[in-house]
Amino acid sequence: MARPRVVLERNVVVKNWKRADLRLCLCSPSPYEVGFLNLALQILYGLWNEREDVLCERAFVNVLGGALSLESRRSLREFDVLAFSVHYEAELVGLVNMLRAAGIPPLARDRRPGEHPILIAGGPVVTENPRPLERVFDCLFIGEVEDVSDELLDALKEASEARSLDPLADLPHVYVPGLSCNRIRRAFVRDLNESYYPTAQFRPEGLRVAFGPAFLLEVSRGCSYKCRFCLARQIYRPMRVRRLPRLLEILDEGLERTATDRVSVISFAASDHPELTEILESLLARGVSFTIPSLRVDRAPARALELLRESGQVSVTVAPEVASERLADALGKGIRPEEVIELGKDLRKLGFSRLKLYFMVGVPGEREGEAAAIGRLARGVRELGFSRVTVAINPLIPKPHTPLQWAPYVGERDYRRRVELVRREAGRGVRLSGLEGPEGLLEVAGARGGPEVGEALASASAEGRLSRRRALLVVKELLRRDARPVLGYPLEAELPWEVVDVGVRRGEVVSEYERFLEALSR
Ligand code: SF4
Repeated sequence: MARPRVVLERNVVVKNWKRADLRLCLCSPSPYEVGFLNLALQILYGLWNEREDVLCERAFVNVLGGALSLESRRSLREFDVLAFSVHYEAELVGLVNMLRAAGIPPLARDRRPGEHPILIAGGPVVTENPRPLERVFDCLFIGEVEDVSDELLDALKEASEARSLDPLADLPHVYVPGLSCNRIRRAFVRDLNESYYPTAQFRPEGLRVAFGPAFLLEVSRGCSYKCRFCLARQIYRPMRVRRLPRLLEILDEGLERTATDRVSVISFAASDHPELTEILESLLARGVSFTIPSLRVDRAPARALELLRESGQVSVTVAPEVASERLADALGKGIRPEEVIELGKDLRKLGFSRLKLYFMVGVPGEREGEAAAIGRLARGVRELGFSRVTVAINPLIPKPHTPLQWAPYVGERDYRRRVELVRREAGRGVRLSGLEGPEGLLEVAGARGGPEVGEALASASAEGRLSRRRALLVVKELLRRDARPVLGYPLEAELPWEVVDVGVRRGEVVSEYERFLEALSR
């Protein structure tokens, strides 16, 4: 038998099990290498352990069999509460496997209060649409937790002691299937400058990961751009920034407590931050190397790009999403093909030698020539002299709460054909990466499906550990019986995710959808 995987770490919190009133385990259905870079996990781990009466440990799908916590190596079954953070629909597979590995029935109706922990989940996948998980979890948290964390912990404690979910059903941001009567309002942090921030971030020692284990510095949350396909824009509203003085406090404390000289600047579009240049100058002044995974290079000040180069970065990422003016207008992303080429020239002048481009295919109404244009654009960029051009292609998944929520999904065969067109036009010098065709179906089902999605995956896991491949077969069968998540929904249909109120008016979403359709007809 393979030995269970262990990880050596810094900034681990070990508390006395017997002295805690509420024992939680924070569960990541993604591997440790991905999970420790997840800011939400870092926030929850730090924030919850600040409370004297609460003990919070962690479990990852690929560590200790996914069934034991890292700190005390106790079975997940022994905790009062298991809190899952779900960031990608594909994590539904790992989530079900973790429960099975710990001997916890993955369907709520098979568990007994007091005999099993309370299961709660949160994260963007839950906020966009909690319905696919409503037969797996006892309750689902909608939105950002920092400002309402104490209320949530108190209710979890009360629920655990009373062996009843009633205290949780009273909270406005928690969906308790079968008990919640009203639409669930999304919680969000009012002021990032006042909210909790984890500076003693847990990090592995001696684990090789991209860019090394960097300190995560969140400079803003939400996005002021209006891309019509974007879920983040809708569920992280409004755009909020952390100001420079607060960021410097966090940075100095964080660098000391994590003993690192690398920083990952976290935001949805860092170029939006009014003090971006000052932030990057402060990082350089401290001798810190940094990366900015989501910069919106096309909107970044020239000085910010120079500073990025000065920090030693040779590689940048740009997400034009499409390579046709018509689709760029329809999606509201607004980076036109000729702008991508101009941007490429500027980046070359600054000395960047590698470029990663993100594109989507399968935009509703996309013409085949528009998919092929992605390949030609990538080739044009390659000819500017970059040593490496990578094109990441993904299918457009029409997400809940966005103006495209009613639109159809491209489907496997069309997706493959379009990727092939891109490949042919791009030629040899361009590397292609991205989601395999069928994987998108798991995302579609997790995003736009109903309770049957979680139920089917949980039931399938009874036959043994669920592989991604088998999960896809299960989902395909589901979508064959009810194709609405793939085909889309009529405007007047009741949508599964309407149990959630993310704070966007329906009229606004409808008129944006109409504008999308109008732009397509040009
Ligand atoms: S810039 Fe990025 S994060 Fe912002 S709305 Fe557009 S796709 Fe979303």
